[in-house]
Parts: sequence; C-alpha cells; structure tokens
Amino acid sequence: MLDCIFCKIITGQSPSQMVFQDEQVSAFRDIHPVAPTHILIVPNKHIASINDLTPADEPLVGHLFTVARQLAVQEGIEKTGYRLIINTGSHAGQMVFHLHLHLIGGQRVRYPMG
Ligand code: 5GP
Ligand code: ZN
Repeated sequence: MLDCIFCKIITGQSPSQMVFQDEQVSAFRDIHPVAPTHILIVPNKHIASINDLTPADEPLVGHLFTVARQLAVQEGIEKTGYRLIINTGSHAGQMVFHLHLHLIGGQRVRYPMG
C-alpha cells in the first residue's frame, strides 16, 4: 500500500525505532508511547484490520502473539505484566488501517477499556 505509513516503516522508507523484524512481522516503538514499553507488532503484508483476516492468516496472527511474548521478555516486563490491544474500526479508535498489536507495559496501565 503506497500511502500506508506502517508499510513505509516496514520497508524502511519511513524512520522508526525498529525492535524486531523477520520475514512475517515487524515491531517498532509507538511514536506516542502511553507507557515505558509501547511497541506495535504488525504483519509485513498489508492487512487493514481484523475485519480483513482470512483463515489463511491464522499462522501469521499466531506469530504476532508469540513475537509479542518474546518482546515482553526482551523488555523485562513479562513478570510485571502487560496489555495487548488490537483496535478495529472507528468505535475502537483505530487510527492506522494496517493491522497492529499494541504491546503496552512497564507501568500499571491505564489505557481506556470500554
Ligand atoms: P490505533 O489507534 O490505530 O490502534 O493506533 C495507532 C498507533 O500508531 C497510535 O498509538 C499512534 O501513536 C501510532 N502511530 C501513528 N503514526 C505512527 C508513526 O508514524 N510511527 C510510529 N512509530 N507510530 C505511529
Ligand atoms: Zn500497510
């Protein structure tokens, strides 16, 4: 997607603090962190939201979560805890329409819920 900011970050056309990348996913620090650890884990292929997933994406979605777990260990927050969030559509406040998993921790999180 030419005009997608996350696609540009994944390909290195836009700068980011990249913390992990493999052939399936990329992970970089959120530009406006809400906690000491706030990382976005995204599929390398453009998927706009959870609404656009197909059964063929199930291994990819599973991988997003195991990378999140690995990054929680890397950040030293696996024991204190963390929150994983995926916003979908306007009622959830999704701002970037490239699927992303927020990994938030390092302090007691007060991110709005419901
Ligand atoms: P959403 O509300 O769509 O779930 O969250 C999008 C997130 O992307 C927000 O937390 C926002 O701060 C972050 N974000 C938006 N643009 C950029 C960017 O250019 N670089 C980075 N690193 N994060 C971004
Ligand atoms: Zn994209």
